[in-house]
Amino acid sequence: MSKMSALDRSELISELKDTDWDLIIIGGGITGAGILLDGVTRGLKTILIEKQDFAWGTSSRSTKLIHGGLRYLKQLEIGLVREVGMERAIVYKNARHIVRPERMLLPIVENGSLGKTTSAIGLWIYDWLADVDKEERRIMLTREETLKAEEKLNADILIGGGLYYEYRTDDARLTIEIIKKAVELGGAAINYAEVSGFIYQNEQIVGVKMIDCLKNENIGVNGKCVVNATGPWVDKVRKLDEPMIRGKRLQLTKGVHLVVPKEKLNLNQSVYFDVAEDGRMIFCIPRAEIVYMGTTDTMYESQVDQPTTTMKDVKYILTAVNHMFPGTDLKPTDIISTWAGLRPLIHEDGKDPSELSRKDEIFISKRGLISIAGGKLTGYRKMSERILKEIKKKNEQFGIEQDIGPSQSKEIPVSGNTFGSEEEMSAHLDALINKAKEHEHRIKQLFFRYGSNTDQIIEMAQQHTLNEGTSFEQALIFAEVDYAIKNEMVLTMSDFCIRRTGMLYFDPIRLIENLEQIADAMQEILGWSNEKKDEEMRLVRLAHRMVLDFQD
Ligand code: FAD
Repeated sequence: MSKMSALDRSELISELKDTDWDLIIIGGGITGAGILLDGVTRGLKTILIEKQDFAWGTSSRSTKLIHGGLRYLKQLEIGLVREVGMERAIVYKNARHIVRPERMLLPIVENGSLGKTTSAIGLWIYDWLADVDKEERRIMLTREETLKAEEKLNADILIGGGLYYEYRTDDARLTIEIIKKAVELGGAAINYAEVSGFIYQNEQIVGVKMIDCLKNENIGVNGKCVVNATGPWVDKVRKLDEPMIRGKRLQLTKGVHLVVPKEKLNLNQSVYFDVAEDGRMIFCIPRAEIVYMGTTDTMYESQVDQPTTTMKDVKYILTAVNHMFPGTDLKPTDIISTWAGLRPLIHEDGKDPSELSRKDEIFISKRGLISIAGGKLTGYRKMSERILKEIKKKNEQFGIEQDIGPSQSKEIPVSGNTFGSEEEMSAHLDALINKAKEHEHRIKQLFFRYGSNTDQIIEMAQQHTLNEGTSFEQALIFAEVDYAIKNEMVLTMSDFCIRRTGMLYFDPIRLIENLEQIADAMQEILGWSNEKKDEEMRLVRLAHRMVLDFQD
């Protein structure tokens, strides 16, 4: 059985039932993925359970930066800046094919929240705290140099600028590559399985009650320790254990991103700037044929499962972008996609959304449920270390003998990163391109999704072209779908189109063009009926309409 193949799900369910797990993780976002990898490599028999698809929650809806959190310097969160700053170098080394250096321009404007001197000092401190490599350290620019770097900036308010580096990623792919590695090393992970309650013995949690959402079957899973890593759902899951939760609780805030075609805002690099009306900051990040812009930060009290982009969010971002790039005049009709995510932050009385700390916190219930909330995509490794420390403490308290080795995740590359250096990675990519030069663009796209696993996809496409007499481009689509089903547990078209490839966000036009072909491939491999195929296509079209349906 291949444990990450959607075709072998029944065997996985049997293993799940028959095993006494050391550690059960609820939630398949970046936090759960990090704990899975840490747990497995420290000798624990570990399983991760996700109610929807992996990275279905906030971990596919962030700004997609592995960053040191420059803006937290303004709030004097020095420790946080240092930790995530150091972490980004580790995440980059371990996930090279999906974490790429991104040059960022910070325009300094009249009446902005950062002046020339504060920006220069701030960026210097940032470089120092994050131990930034020499070639990526900040460079301060004059007004003229800033305009030369980005001629579309608002010259009327510009007084200077700074160039520095962040790292861009695909949050959902980072999550799945970590899960794949953890499973390769002996862990287990299942999607479409919801935890609905707990199993207790002597007033302590000794397992979870789980619903297999595909078969609507109730299953008991036994485990010595249970971690709740459900992001915005943390309090909901805590309430399954203690209906009146004690102590700290979550405060969700919503963040929205808008996507426009590159022609509408053709930037030379990413830009990070002040919003005139409230002094918050917004990113504009070019990516292949699009630019995405965001984010907002507003208190959120509504339903957690499906946050949406409202017209108010759209106006806020477009007003800020049009003010900073006056020639662009972006309109809501220029938007080709959006996403909205919820930050699982810790409630603090009287604080505005942007003032709430991004630090993670751990809560432990009377009956032993360990919950973790807050934090950043970038800090997932450190969060998992803190969780494993709590598990050790809990074991000591209850006299449970268990050998938990030291953390190794710093040295473990994620699936798809077999490269010791950038040079090695470029050489691998060049060799792949040489196999099919006329498809260079598409091969690069695959490579920065799957890294060294792209070899399998290309080999299969070549085979398919020979056998079926289809074009190489068509064969590549089939091979990619096949790979994702058999190695990334893709069960629905949305899994593939939204989280494994990001097509709904980054390439919505190609998504709709290729929808039928993707559906055909999934039908053939997963044995769907025609009705099932039609329903799956309908759901992707609906998702496409929903991201553009801006309610007031
Ligand atoms: P999630 O990703 O939400 O995962 C929780 C999972 O638990 C979900 O998939 C859910 O389906 C599952 N679940 C819930 N209930 C159950 C149940 N009963 N049974 C089984 N599974 C369950 N961080 C950065 O470092 N860089 C950034 O650029 C950045 N930008 C951001 C921008 C925005 C707009 C937002 C909202 C956040 C951003 N963050 C960023 C923060 C980062 O995205 C989050 O901290 C992180 O993704 C949270 O991951 P998580 O795994 O804790 O939660």
